[in-house]
Parts: sequence; structure tokens; C-alpha cells
Amino acid sequence: MGEKKKSGWLWPLGLMATGLAGAAVMVFRGCWHGKMSWPVRSHEYSYQVCMGCGIKRLFDEKAFRAYGPFSYDLNRLIEWERARRGQPQPQPKPSVERSAS
Ligand SMILES: [Zn+2]
Repeated sequence: MGEKKKSGWLWPLGLMATGLAGAAVMVFRGCWHGKMSWPVRSHEYSYQVCMGCGIKRLFDEKAFRAYGPFSYDLNRLIEWERARRGQPQPQPKPSVERSAS
């Protein structure tokens, strides 16, 4: 018989219980986004990911804080940020190259 060890449950429960006691109620009622990951860089944008539910939020590296709306779709956040910066659409490169000889 080859029983696989389920070591996934062997977390430091004592440590977890302390945090869970307060958070469990809120977690079950819906995520409260209290536990965000470190900022992740994607192209020219930085964002944080919620460790609880995976929702994303833009992160200002200069101010070192999250801002803007929450969304599970990073593209929506980027669109929101573009609109905020006044760059609604990524412009295709204007054809500057002219065959002027
Ligand atoms: Zn969350």
C-alpha cells in the first residue's frame, strides 16, 4: 500500500490560528484584500495580487502604495490606468519613415 503523505496540511497551525481567528469571519463573508502580495511588475505597470482571492490592484512604486480599482483582469486595470494618464489607446507607430532620397 503506498499512501501518499499529505504534508499540505502540516502547516504551522499555531501561527495560522492567530491570524485566522480574526480573518476567518471576513474571509468567509467575502475577501477583504488585507493580504496583498508584493508588487509585480508587468511591462510599465506594477500591481499587487490578493493572496486570498487573487484579485489585482495597481501599485504605485513611487508612492509605494496601491491605488485605483480592484479587478481580476489585469487588462482592465491597465485600461483604467491608460485612461487616467490620458492615453486611451496604444497608438500604432506613425509611419515616420519616408523614402526621401
Ligand atoms: Zn482578495
